[in-house]
Amino acid sequence: MCGLGSLTGKELVLVVPRSNRPKGRKNFEGEPLDIERLTTGFRRTEHKHGYSYTVQPIGASKAQKMYTCPGCNLSIEPGVEHLVAWKQDGIMGDAHDVSERRHWHKHCWRIF
Ligand SMILES: [Zn+2]
Repeated sequence: MCGLGSLTGKELVLVVPRSNRPKGRKNFEGEPLDIERLTTGFRRTEHKHGYSYTVQPIGASKAQKMYTCPGCNLSIEPGVEHLVAWKQDGIMGDAHDVSERRHWHKHCWRIF
């Protein structure tokens, strides 16, 4: 009789709410921030010479290789902000278009 009393006392201690999930925490602010986009700028489409080109700006921190600019045939040094452009003709598919991408000086692309 008396033992039962102490047992129930222990069990009371054990009854701690374990799944106390906070409700209403779904207030994420849209999509997670994409650092890469913030540093390199947004991909955009430009129209030149009757074609559509995808243009992707490359930030200085992302430019880690040397490229040859097709506009002036001079090199784009690593660490120089520039852009990548490729034609969206789509005949050979997106993957082919992207494989044809070229790195341009910003200035050369503008006057291309
Ligand atoms: Zn150039």
